Amino acid sequence: MTLPDMTVFADLESNVRGYCRSWPTVFDTASGAWLRDETGREYLDFFAGAGALNYGHNNPVLKQSLLDYIAGDGITHGLDMSTVAKRELLETLRDRILRPRGLDYKVQFPGPTGANAVEAALKLARKVTGRTEILNFTNAFHGMTLGALSVTGNAAKRAGAGVPLQHATSMPFDGYLSGPDDDSFEWMERVLDDASSGLDSPAAVIVETVQGEGGVNIAGVQWLRKLAGLCAAREILLIVDDVQMGCGRTGPFFSFEMAGITPDIVTLSKSIGGYGLPMALVLFKPELDVWKPGEHNGTFRGNNPAFVTARAALEHYWADDALEIATRAKAERIDRALAGMVAAFDGITTRGRGLVHGVVFDDASAAEKVCASAFQRGLLVETSGPEDEVVKLLPPLTISDSELDHGLELLAESVDAVCGGRGR
Ligand SMILES: *Cc1c(COP(=O)(O)O)cnc(C)c1O
Repeated sequence: MTLPDMTVFADLESNVRGYCRSWPTVFDTASGAWLRDETGREYLDFFAGAGALNYGHNNPVLKQSLLDYIAGDGITHGLDMSTVAKRELLETLRDRILRPRGLDYKVQFPGPTGANAVEAALKLARKVTGRTEILNFTNAFHGMTLGALSVTGNAAKRAGAGVPLQHATSMPFDGYLSGPDDDSFEWMERVLDDASSGLDSPAAVIVETVQGEGGVNIAGVQWLRKLAGLCAAREILLIVDDVQMGCGRTGPFFSFEMAGITPDIVTLSKSIGGYGLPMALVLFKPELDVWKPGEHNGTFRGNNPAFVTARAALEHYWADDALEIATRAKAERIDRALAGMVAAFDGITTRGRGLVHGVVFDDASAAEKVCASAFQRGLLVETSGPEDEVVKLLPPLTISDSELDHGLELLAESVDAVCGGRGR
């Protein structure tokens, strides 16, 4: 076999398919930071399932826990029944994650996607406060269901809604108005505190600490603290959507830890299942737990194999701070390599935190070409941002230094191929 057979995808699968267009091959197996297509070609993964594979593909530790569980006829589908797998996950989450961080949260199991978690969070905030409006931020991304889409910025995604997206008002994210040092709360505070501003008092603010889909836009620690204070002073609930930036992506387990804030509600999905298995959580302060039994429901809230791998990931990677320290060291490695790229090529800048980085191209069209060139070289990277002008780097946290260096070298070659003129 030399060329992968793509016919059935083009013939049968809906036009809505997306990533397969950027990476036109047929993938077959994967381990760690590598995927293999059916022709045997290898690709280094700097996308990690959009942040769902922080511990890599088929992580051996998590795989063993899953194999043992399946071999022992452990519960696979459990609605929201109490199971041993769920008990062990809850205990581990409490003992490894919540208690050491002084976080007193109740845990809700919504449906298994990030959008499910966001919908539940928005519903709960509205139910608790009796208010309707939600404040979100420019270039935010919270998912594709109608509630989540209403707080999402992306015009193309919003265009798919088919109904008006209501009860959300967009506020300027950190740096949106005039760059990194602006005080972008001036507008938000003004409209919140002016009864005649036309803004109804909101139930909640929903924010990502780093906007992954929105172009790797980073909220400063001071900005986040100010936001938390501003919400607390006005009794507006603060929702941190940690679906992509949680589970160690920025270093600490929760991305908001470095700001020293305690959100009222936190959403997790993507890497919380550990193994790439669908799972989501909503965490919230106990006094917000006004749900009636069964009031928010869903058939697939009990994906027990995901509970098993989630627990194994928490046990194995979060019993100490080794992963966080390693992430910080790898982040510095990326920073150095990207600084070299910025020096070598005109028209690019970079930004990042932990193991999420963006290479921003002045000429937006270059970013997609760089991704295509990287694919040719065996590196998977994707674009993000309003004009798809940002190449987003999201390697597994478990990637080795040499793999990281190799990927960064392939990226530099790709930028060189597209932008040319190395050494201006
Ligand atoms: C991916 C993502 C979502 C949506 O998750 P799905 O599983 O795709 O529904 C929500 N919020 C953020 C920040 C995300 O990155």
